Amino acid sequence: MASAASSTAKDDEPTEETALETARRQLTRAAAHLDVDPGVIERLNHPNQVHRVSVPLERDDGTTEVYTGYRAQHDSVRGPYKGGLRFHPDVTEDECIGLSMWMTWKCAVMDLPFGGGKGGIVVNPKDLSVDEKERLTRRFAEELRPFIGPTKDIPAPDMGTDAQTMAWFMDAYSMQEGETQAGVVTGKPPVVGGSKGRDTAPGRSVAIIAREAIDYLGWDIEETTVAVQGFGSVGAPAARLLDDSGATVVAVSDVNGAIYDPEGLDTHDVPTHEEEPEAVMKYDAPQKISNEELLELDVDVLIPAAIGNVLTAENAEDVQAELIVEGANGPTTTAATELFEERGIQVVPDILANAGGVTVSYFEWLQDLNRRSWSLERVHDELETEMLRAWEAVREQVETYDVTWRDAAYMVALERVAAAHEHRGLWP
Ligand code: NAD
Repeated sequence: MASAASSTAKDDEPTEETALETARRQLTRAAAHLDVDPGVIERLNHPNQVHRVSVPLERDDGTTEVYTGYRAQHDSVRGPYKGGLRFHPDVTEDECIGLSMWMTWKCAVMDLPFGGGKGGIVVNPKDLSVDEKERLTRRFAEELRPFIGPTKDIPAPDMGTDAQTMAWFMDAYSMQEGETQAGVVTGKPPVVGGSKGRDTAPGRSVAIIAREAIDYLGWDIEETTVAVQGFGSVGAPAARLLDDSGATVVAVSDVNGAIYDPEGLDTHDVPTHEEEPEAVMKYDAPQKISNEELLELDVDVLIPAAIGNVLTAENAEDVQAELIVEGANGPTTTAATELFEERGIQVVPDILANAGGVTVSYFEWLQDLNRRSWSLERVHDELETEMLRAWEAVREQVETYDVTWRDAAYMVALERVAAAHEHRGLWP
């Protein structure tokens, strides 16, 4: 997200930190609190491998275009690489590296046996027909085939890609391997090896973590007000589950703006992005406000769950929420993070809060390898268990070292990755 913002900014505009700069800065910060071999930190500052491939596509009109694709593989000390593939015009090599580092920490904070990967193609998927997108995906799968696989690197959907993209990718890979290898990607439709509950998992984890944080702060959830920016895959389930838990969700938004009811919205009645795209503002609510106003509402909990870099030096002083739970990836800039720390506003980071997505991807992979599907109830139960385990590990660091939730989450992750490196050693 961060690098997408910087790559489109003009030279004379202040640029946001890139995803790679953020990832390296977080590593340095976490390392400062821990007794970790500097050689290990140096290794973690660099990705193991970055693959750059040319992906030729025959367009529907018969012409040929060649797109650039990447797969960054940051660290595999704890297991195969895991992370999304995005189709977006702003994809860059550095962005993939930075986001692959984030995935290393996200998998480690959840204690999943994966390392971080990320990739994508520099393309605007809106410029492609469905057939073109399918051909591009299949060719990308073939170009990446030597570097990926169920025990090597397991991609997933990301911006501009979805369950159908993953089904094509899996099919192309499997045909070349001569057998169905459902475990090569996650986020597939359930009929071809996807997991039940994968679609709402990141929002579910945001709600679980918000609930735990509310409890930790000694608040009564029945008395707690919440505003959620973005009513899509992450924001909508998060808002609805918190509503079900007794919280009062007073505002939700989509790209067009926000609806606000101080008495609380019926979140199950507001159409999600999937149910009816960008229809939040059509909902009959007492007040319509802007996305900027939503971020500054007088609420207890703010959940930015739409896009990156929405909480910045410009608006951080005006945020009134006491607790921010990051649903989107990278919604808080470094400057805003520092201002929130000064103001005593608690920020629970994305790598913990929205990690339900990669956790249920892990469940999907287990189901694929074992050829046995889990019930939705089992997925929900196991996700709850994993989220609570991760929350406890992070809470312990917060209490032991008196650090922010973000630093604590990175410390938990780094301790695990570094310990694995120290045990495995550097060869030769
Ligand atoms: P989505 O497309 O399902 O929904 C996004 C929502 O945000 C929509 O309601 C959209 O209208 C709104 N939105 C878009 N641009 C906006 C803007 N400029 N201002 C306000 N609202 C805007 O997307 P999603 O899958 O819910 O992803 C949201 C965020 O969560 C992203 O940062 C994504 O990287 C992150 N995330 C997603 C998953 C996942 O598995 N879906 C997992 C972890 C993190």
